[in-house]
Amino acid sequence: MQKFSTVASQNYIDGSWQKASTTFESLNPANKRDVVGTVPRGTEADVDAAVGAAKAAYESWRELSWVNRAEVVDRFAQLLKRDLDDLGQTVTRECGKPLNEGMADVVEALHMAQYVAGLGRMPNGFTVSSEVPAKDAYILKRPKSVVACITPWNFPVAIPLWVILPSVLAGNTVVFKPSEETPICAHKLMALFHEAGFPAGVINIVHGMGEDVGEALVRHKDVAVVLFTGSRAVGKHIQQIAAADAYKFAATEMGGKNATIVLEDADLDIAVNACVLGAFKTSGQRCVSSGRLIVDRKIEPEFTKRFTETVRRITVGDGLQSGTFMGPLINEAGVEKWRHHNAKAAEEGAQVLIEGKELDDEAHACGNFVTPFVYRFDSYKPNTFCLREEAFSPHVAIIPVSGMEEAVEVYNDTEYGLSMAVITEDFRKWRWVRDHAEYGLGYVNLPSIGAEVHLPFGGVKSSGNGHPGAEGIIDSVTHRIAFTVNHAREIVMAQGLSTTI
Ligand code: NAD
Repeated sequence: MQKFSTVASQNYIDGSWQKASTTFESLNPANKRDVVGTVPRGTEADVDAAVGAAKAAYESWRELSWVNRAEVVDRFAQLLKRDLDDLGQTVTRECGKPLNEGMADVVEALHMAQYVAGLGRMPNGFTVSSEVPAKDAYILKRPKSVVACITPWNFPVAIPLWVILPSVLAGNTVVFKPSEETPICAHKLMALFHEAGFPAGVINIVHGMGEDVGEALVRHKDVAVVLFTGSRAVGKHIQQIAAADAYKFAATEMGGKNATIVLEDADLDIAVNACVLGAFKTSGQRCVSSGRLIVDRKIEPEFTKRFTETVRRITVGDGLQSGTFMGPLINEAGVEKWRHHNAKAAEEGAQVLIEGKELDDEAHACGNFVTPFVYRFDSYKPNTFCLREEAFSPHVAIIPVSGMEEAVEVYNDTEYGLSMAVITEDFRKWRWVRDHAEYGLGYVNLPSIGAEVHLPFGGVKSSGNGHPGAEGIIDSVTHRIAFTVNHAREIVMAQGLSTTI
């Protein structure tokens, strides 16, 4: 087996790496004897120092032009490209997803860096006409100052870049609090930010637990913006804290109970393929994973037969080994969540089609390995935990429905609204579904997964509060200001307002 070293990470504050007094270990979820790194357990004092450094650096960073700042992002993009393989392997080793997914995470990160570098030369404001001919009116985007970026573990390289790079491009400075499950991926990104030449204080990292480092960041009086991606429970908590300060803004991108809808005219090859990818890529641990397959009852028996045949062929193992389709779950809590959702489905009357197993043979004994759990109901059962709550694991329901309208009604019956895919050959049907289902990311004849950085990434209802990541994030980290200049020798007001004194 390939030997990897253990990385000793540190907090990075005001341009220098800091020694930590207390540390914790980041373990490989496929082999918990493999210590990926040692990590500082940050404190409120570290948060205070990092926010102070970011606040001080903001004064000069904001003075540069968007193009100047984009040039630093471009240098970072080139370094990321150089280290693509190493980062891809680190993603797999630290969060367990198979190597092609680890690499895809880093490729997406690279696309984000390239996109943001290009954005530096795009319009970042515009001129509009005034009612008064002698006036010029402008709409400009101004940075907000210190941005806290709090990120989840499941896309440990791409998601941090969706939020950090647009923030610094716009002239803000950043304190990055990565997931405690994937700190070494974050450490490697920080080392590249340093090498790319971001000035001291512009990007800082504080490692540690959500309840102390994350919470201290959200509460800090000098943090103007919180960009959070993670679970609904934590996102809601963060919104409530941020709401206490009138000036503070929190963009929260959260979970989903996504679905793939398979209509009666669907191409079943596409349907089965899309449903397997949507449900089981990253072992069901994507915010956009399909936990529900809503299938027209006219084709449901044939779909279910083909789907379950394919699912039984899924290989579960170490993501660094070729041929693995599904890696481990991230931690013991993830396995416990999977067990709980499976037990609830059985308790709520589901017919279990594939009984998921915990693997403990020699090849799997040191990791958090489970196999897919698949179940069905004869007809939709409202108010069930298993059909409404995010399982974030390979736990999938098949729900037969009669026609497109019932499919969408069932789809909408959760508090979430993140991702929706529909499989159909009928353009009138997908258009109707497009306009009546509630989601932030919609797909036709595709799985419910598959982000691209130049599109907004976010959800509606309890999945997101309307400030999507990737393409969508610049608006969250800038104030849109109006600026008007008079070129006449007298004052002429809009709306015919009198100037007589
Ligand atoms: P999580 O909510 O447990 O943690 C996310 C981040 O929040 C971590 O860095 C964590 O340390 C921090 N945190 C925890 N408690 C905090 C607190 N009290 N104050 C401040 N920060 C705190 O989520 P996770 O387990 O890392 O990720 C899985 C969840 O993220 C799933 O629900 C998934 O659907 C969601 N997710 C959403 C998106 C999206 O774009 N909508 C993308 C990926 C993952």
